[in-house]
Amino acid sequence: KGSDGNYTVTLIEGDGIGPEISQSVKDIFAAAKVPIKWEPVDVTPILKDGRTTIPDEAIKSVQKNYVALKGPLATPVGKGHVSLNLTLRRTFNLFANLRPCRSVAGYKTPYDNVDTVLIRENTEGEYSGIEHVVVDGVVQSIKLITREASERVLRFAFQHAQSSGKKKVRVVHKATIMKMSDGLFLNTARDVAKEFPDVEFDAELLDNTCLKMVTDPTPYNDKVLVMPNLYGDILSDMCAGLIGGLGLTPSGNIGDECSIFEAVHGSAPDIAGKGLANPTALLLSSIMMLQHMGLNEHAERIQKAAFDTLAEGKTLTGDLGGTAKTHEYAGAIIKRL
Ligand code: NAD
Repeated sequence: KGSDGNYTVTLIEGDGIGPEISQSVKDIFAAAKVPIKWEPVDVTPILKDGRTTIPDEAIKSVQKNYVALKGPLATPVGKGHVSLNLTLRRTFNLFANLRPCRSVAGYKTPYDNVDTVLIRENTEGEYSGIEHVVVDGVVQSIKLITREASERVLRFAFQHAQSSGKKKVRVVHKATIMKMSDGLFLNTARDVAKEFPDVEFDAELLDNTCLKMVTDPTPYNDKVLVMPNLYGDILSDMCAGLIGGLGLTPSGNIGDECSIFEAVHGSAPDIAGKGLANPTALLLSSIMMLQHMGLNEHAERIQKAAFDTLAEGKTLTGDLGGTAKTHEYAGAIIKRL
């Protein structure tokens, strides 16, 4: 927080639709008089010592401000690039990926009362990137699970249950097959659970969770789900589908020091630059960021204006069946503030 009373937050606008949806968030925050000064940074990858990385200024900005809002970053397929998103997670040790999915009134999906919270281990597991060819035609990919990384994401899940009022933490796993790796995650969860006697704890097999969630998601509303990396990646997109898709789902990448909030979706190159993107997911991510910073009143006010605009259903973007442009939808939210 600066002497002028404003907090400085790093802004990574991102690629494709990133600049358009970032503009909406900036306009809405300005209208709501949120005490935030944006510090835009460029994260165009640079090559350093033979490795792709993000520019030092971007790293310094996030380290200084502790909090960043990030638009989607395009990762070219098969060009030897390390995903920039992975680079950011590793650089700032963003060990937990928090993904809430809440039904939006006014947008009809098979279920209208979804309120799930999923926490994904963000640094290791199946996405450790340790792969090699054993002999021609045979590759090995290593799923790395450590007690240390498991413990810290599990502890975060229990703490989140306490602070958000959810009653239960459920570990989602496949320890029946992955006996050692998921077994370690599950056993660590049992140990961590003892530190939180006021939070109920249980475990469920991933395939069972998928089946039950698409059959009826409501029993999951009072729980925080926590799981290894790959399961969390897939299951959270499934939850997004339950509430109406990627244009509506926010996320937070939480670390010990720094946190980066971002929409779950990508850079949507098919609609970029046309004013068609739905900024809701980035806006909801920015609302999570405000809550993380303790700016709860501003968060609630903006959230109400956004949900009321969606519920009214008059000014919706194309992905939600409307005809409004990105800035028209943002304008409708601003009118309600
Ligand atoms: P995508 O999420 O960009 O797009 C999938 C579909 O959803 C597209 O039809 C797109 O138009 C639509 N869509 C996504 N966001 C929308 C929004 N806000 N409003 C309206 N429609 C929206 O996924 P993709 O096409 O597989 O990926 C494109 C690029 O984004 C790739 O380079 C990928 O690596 C990258 N990506 C980045 C992130 C991230 O930065 N966190 C996440 C996923 C993908």
